[in-house]
Amino acid sequence: MFRPRPRLRSVFDRIASYRPDEAVVPVAGRVCALGANESPHGVLPDIAAAVMAAAGTVNRYPDFGASELIAQIARTHGVPEERVALGAGSVALLQMALQAIAEPGAEVLYAWRSFELYPVLADLAGVRSVRVPLLNEALDLPAMAAAVTRHTRIIIICNPNNPTGTALGQAELRDFLDLVPADCLVLIDEAYAEYVRHPGPRSALSLCRERPNLAVLRTFSKAYGLAGLRIGYLVGDPFVAAQLRKACLPYSLSTVAQAAALAALKAQDQLLAQVDETVAERARVRQALLAAGWDIPRSEANFLWLRLGEASADFARSCARAGIHVRTFPGEGVRVSVGSQADNDAFLAAAVAWPATAR
Ligand SMILES: *Cc1c(COP(=O)(O)O)cnc(C)c1O
Repeated sequence: MFRPRPRLRSVFDRIASYRPDEAVVPVAGRVCALGANESPHGVLPDIAAAVMAAAGTVNRYPDFGASELIAQIARTHGVPEERVALGAGSVALLQMALQAIAEPGAEVLYAWRSFELYPVLADLAGVRSVRVPLLNEALDLPAMAAAVTRHTRIIIICNPNNPTGTALGQAELRDFLDLVPADCLVLIDEAYAEYVRHPGPRSALSLCRERPNLAVLRTFSKAYGLAGLRIGYLVGDPFVAAQLRKACLPYSLSTVAQAAALAALKAQDQLLAQVDETVAERARVRQALLAAGWDIPRSEANFLWLRLGEASADFARSCARAGIHVRTFPGEGVRVSVGSQADNDAFLAAAVAWPATAR
């Protein structure tokens, strides 16, 4: 019998439903969670205490404008508060920005392979994606500049790039920005900025003052260890920040998330010392992989990229059997987070045992 269904935008036929990764078998009761680039460090006691205290007030709505947190973020970066906008994760800010430009014909330009949520968010917002292939695992800025059309409204630059870990220098970024039309918003997704160690500036934040069409996205999900609470922010021109604040889903920044982010900023020194540990582990893991004959691009983030091509799924399955969760991009590669020393050792054992002929 014909049963009519609610009629939706046709793009929903293309968007895949969320499917959890294949279950990873615990080994000795433990799973190495190296699939989502989370902080491997436990929550600091002061942050846990702030979360507990905020939990006692959740019968009330959160502070709509999150004024204390905005003020603290502004102070942290030495910018006026009017340049800061918050979102329930930096992906919420991306969604807000895409909604803000989603008129018929509007395009968003980004590199590919890059963060897997860019196409999903663009589709949801009704914005056409234009993808520019990576060159040697890195963003090809000249090709991206050449792909700008009069329909391009947003350019997303993932720096360092997820999942390849490669980072751009300030000079090449400046050259690129000089070529971008002033009415096109450039969003630099700096989810991993805290892990960058190359010489020279590690963030585009300082470039925002001179360029009203440039904004930086940051998150509390990685270096600050709050992935489960959903909180991120944008620093950019006061006009852009003000418009995105309008697009925020009301009350989507929970009281608990606001309190935790404030506590995390207070504990910044401790958290950045944890980042130093991860950076040291990143070097150790990469060196061990190189020594075992793997070809791994230099990473400025908290993960490494194994370009396994057609062998990606098999390798991920063999990791899963060893209790290790990695992120698979079938046919392309595997991304492995830099975790605790023990988890990294478990991964190294699996990777070193993987036959060179199968890479
Ligand atoms: C992890 C990640 C984020 C963080 O997203 P949140 O919504 O803040 O958790 C953003 N961009 C990229 C490229 C990421 O890898």
